[in-house]
Amino acid sequence: MTSGADLVVVGAGIVGLSHALHAARAGLRVVVVERDERAVGASVRNFGHVCTTAQAGEALDLARTAREEWLRLGAEAGLPVLRHGTVVVARTAAQSRVLEEFTAERGDAARALTPAEAEQRLGFAPVGVLSAVHLPLDLRVDPITASARIAAHLERLGVEFRWRTNVLAVEPGLVRTTRGDLRTTRVVVAVGHDVDRFFPDVADEHLLVRCRLRMLEVDAPFGAMPPRC
Ligand SMILES: Cc1cc2nc3c(=O)[nH]c(=O)nc-3n(C[C@H](O)[C@H](O)[C@H](O)COP(=O)(O)OP(=O)(O)OC[C@H]3O[C@@H](n4cnc5c(N)ncnc54)[C@H](O)[C@@H]3O)c2cc1C
Repeated sequence: MTSGADLVVVGAGIVGLSHALHAARAGLRVVVVERDERAVGASVRNFGHVCTTAQAGEALDLARTAREEWLRLGAEAGLPVLRHGTVVVARTAAQSRVLEEFTAERGDAARALTPAEAEQRLGFAPVGVLSAVHLPLDLRVDPITASARIAAHLERLGVEFRWRTNVLAVEPGLVRTTRGDLRTTRVVVAVGHDVDRFFPDVADEHLLVRCRLRMLEVDAPFGAMPPRC
């Protein structure tokens, strides 16, 4: 039995790492428990798109905060955060009208582009573009390397990682793992889509269904693509 952590975080994906970061900044003693030897879940299989401007309402406020956090973390952790923004293209008249309306509503956060300007910014010519918009506030990080760099940064802040350790159960004040029990006062369970395996009763109660989103890496269809960070 190990004791003494103020917070145990289950899962070293981006959600778990974010909780660990904020707890460490607040001066808590944090242990992160991850069943794999590094983060391998959705946090390394995504597009790395920090999508700010396309959000609305409360999600927009959260996205603006997340943007500031990524920029701060990038500077602190030596993590490349690209500021190229997003180019959104319209290929039908209806899509063009949506972009016009969106651009008028968002002011400086959305700038209309001609198809030629879009091509210049993208570095290739997307097919059949009628109009386009540049969203300069959007960021991009490299999902393959970001989690590892954030974990390394957290270790420098004093966060302890237990890799290749499966969490079997969370009980009041206790986290049971395949390498022994951890005593703690607070637990964050950030196990991504496995939340339905972790809390099957809650998943059943809320009719939780797993989706089937998959990524496939293919050759760039238009020739040159913008470089990865
Ligand atoms: C194809 C795709 C593209 C996406 N593109 C974007 C994008 O561009 N921008 C964006 O913001 N979001 C994007 N997302 C969403 C984003 O990736 C997820 O919302 C995010 O990564 C979820 O992070 P997480 O920490 O909750 O889960 P995960 O990254 O899945 O991490 C959960 C971790 O918990 C661990 N774990 C599970 N069970 C246990 C256990 N019992 N004991 C110990 N450890 C355990 C797992 O091993 C895993 O490492 C995309 C998602 C997908 C699938």
